[in-house]
Amino acid sequence: MWLWRGTEPMLSASSGVERLLAPRHGSGVCRRCLNLTAEATGLCRACRAGEHHLAAILPISYSVGGEWLHHLIASYKRDADPWVPDAITTLARICEAFLSAHEPCVASAAGVERFQLVTTVPSGDPRRDSHHPLRRIVGDLVAPTRDRHERLLVRTPTPAIPRHFDAARYRATQPLRGEAVLLIDDMWTSGASAQSAAAALLDAGAGKVAAIVIARHLNRGWDRNDLRLRRLARDGFDFASCVVCSGEDAGLTTKPAAAQRGGDGLSSLRR
Ligand SMILES: [Zn+2]
Ligand SMILES: [Zn+2]
Repeated sequence: MWLWRGTEPMLSASSGVERLLAPRHGSGVCRRCLNLTAEATGLCRACRAGEHHLAAILPISYSVGGEWLHHLIASYKRDADPWVPDAITTLARICEAFLSAHEPCVASAAGVERFQLVTTVPSGDPRRDSHHPLRRIVGDLVAPTRDRHERLLVRTPTPAIPRHFDAARYRATQPLRGEAVLLIDDMWTSGASAQSAAAALLDAGAGKVAAIVIARHLNRGWDRNDLRLRRLARDGFDFASCVVCSGEDAGLTTKPAAAQRGGDGLSSLRR
């Protein structure tokens, strides 16, 4: 069953989804953020260096610098780019397909039954944040999140040091009362923005905070990334499984109910 409303065509391989790269746990993969590392086990350098406030992190796809998903995420925020409407639509469809199938997976990994609230990480640029298209995607276009979406965070005037955790970078727009919050962001590089956002939500009274990020950034030229990314591309991307429910890491968690039922029927998107 495809959950996109209206008369929009189904998300097909030609939409670019065939270029998504599914993160999976395993040797040489950061157990927290799924970064590819040179070490067999443990955390990547960024995760070792920064503070950690997210109960779970679930990237939909790797994004390789200069390649399709990287360009898509760069362009959907540029108002003047004629490709913006297509980019927003494609990203909304990716989010909808993934969230429909795997929100229970991230809830399970975070140790919560469900997320009462959904919000996005504010843009680093306050001018852009006033009309950020990710909020439109999560709060309007994507059915599984639109009724729970709230703008819970704003950027503070604190100058941001790129890729550095700072609990003062964001502040919550309202006090929270223990609600579990699903945080959605478009790109994860060091994770400093999402971890800083999680810290602000927890400080405001949130229960657990977990993140789904559309794209976990990688550079193809680093270490053995090219070889490893080629292998992932050969395996293909399938909306019916994610890093939690794929079963490729037996120690991570038990499969949530949605996954045990075989996802939400999006296996037609398999390639
Ligand atoms: Zn990491
Ligand atoms: Zn899953």
